[in-house]
Amino acid sequence: MSLLFRQNLASNLDSQARDDLEQNWAILRGYLRLNHEGDNVYKPNWFFDLEDPEEAAASARVKKAYFIADPNGKPIEAAKAWETLGNDSPADIKKVLKSNQAQWRQVKNSAGVPYLIRSSYVMSEDNKVRFYVAIGQSQAESEDLVSRFNLLCLALIPFGMLTGFGTGWIFAGRALKPVLEIARAAQRIGGSNLSLRIPAHGTGDELDYLIETFNQMIQRLEVSFNQARQFSTDVSHELRTPITVVRGQLEVALMTARNEEDFREAIETSLGDIERLSQIVRALLLLSQAETGQVVLQKHKLDLVEMLETHVDQFQIPAEGADVYLRFQGLSPVCEGEFDQIQLERMMSNLLTNAIKFTPPGGTIQVSVENQGDTAQIVVGDTGRGIPAKHLPHIFDRFYRVPGEKGQATPEKGLGLGLSFVAWIARAHGGTIDVLSQPGKGTTFTIRLPLNGECAMSAEDAVTTRSGPA
Ligand code: ADP
Repeated sequence: MSLLFRQNLASNLDSQARDDLEQNWAILRGYLRLNHEGDNVYKPNWFFDLEDPEEAAASARVKKAYFIADPNGKPIEAAKAWETLGNDSPADIKKVLKSNQAQWRQVKNSAGVPYLIRSSYVMSEDNKVRFYVAIGQSQAESEDLVSRFNLLCLALIPFGMLTGFGTGWIFAGRALKPVLEIARAAQRIGGSNLSLRIPAHGTGDELDYLIETFNQMIQRLEVSFNQARQFSTDVSHELRTPITVVRGQLEVALMTARNEEDFREAIETSLGDIERLSQIVRALLLLSQAETGQVVLQKHKLDLVEMLETHVDQFQIPAEGADVYLRFQGLSPVCEGEFDQIQLERMMSNLLTNAIKFTPPGGTIQVSVENQGDTAQIVVGDTGRGIPAKHLPHIFDRFYRVPGEKGQATPEKGLGLGLSFVAWIARAHGGTIDVLSQPGKGTTFTIRLPLNGECAMSAEDAVTTRSGPA
């Protein structure tokens, strides 16, 4: 930077000196006459009016350093200062006289002071002879200015560097302070205090964005930590209850049973509870395997209508037992799809078991399947007790059961895992599940599964309808 500035300064001073010399040259041309005095003798005459202060000043400026020589290079007249510069060589003089252009050069006088010289010719008054005339200007001041500037730079560079380092250090420290705060806050956050958040600076800059992203990440971690905590609490609760029951039954039997039959009865009841326990363990194991991606779907081409119809048919007997109508309606799909039959049957079993469980006698359960563009849409609707809106967002959570009328758990002994499976199976097929429910009116689950291949439904597509007896 300072080098650039120095170059700029030097070139400005040089062009200033050239301008000055050009001006002096113009003055010289106006006031110098080379008069013919006969016999090839010419004499330089200056026509400055030294009474006039302006002309006197101009004369002093021009005549400070000048040199006049005849066409042979013989000096005719020169300023005193020119002596220290040394006379110009006749060869150089002849070269200048031949050229129509002004010549510029830099020389040093005997004391080492640099001079800028402008040389050219001036015609004699009779317009016959070209005389060599050179004027010069000392560059001492310019050189002095440049060297003082150099010295100043040399002195300022270490100072500038120190100041630069200092301010850089301070600014870097200030800029990094919030980063340090983030790091400290991150160190304070652990499994037990995930509710901590890093306060934003409110400057809306990149650091605030970083803090916001960081806080969002902690929030996600908090949600999954809480889910995991809730899950282990639920699991222990679910397992403890049947274990306590079994233990109680066996203890009572030990103390009160009087004969083999009493013991047999106690053991049979306990076996029933143990069976429920192993059901929970099996379901949990499967669900956690499914959710951690350890269950691989066994997909193959399937006629969805046929498969669903057969499966729904198997629920006619329980539906009859509960005194509800079970209907199936299937539009034969032309589209192809690949599904895991066992998982789809598990999905339908869970939905139908719930529907039968929560639909009062005389109600209806309607199952349908149809193509909707490139998806198969399976709907399971019932006219049962419905689910209050506030519970709807949670029914797919593990162990979630909608409490009964007076706040107690539902009288039916569900595990609260069925819909978690249903949701996983739909998602594992790349599909979605939605639920609509109106308390007292019924519930409708809609599952959309992707199909591959073009769908071409025609008006005559078969409609299969089955209806179970009341
Ligand atoms: P479970 O295996 O205990 O039935 P789910 O996960 O299948 O548990 O269902 C969770 C809760 O959703 C049930 O406890 C029940 O209250 C409610 N539910 C599910 N299906 C229906 C339905 N068809 N009608 C009314 N409530 C339902």
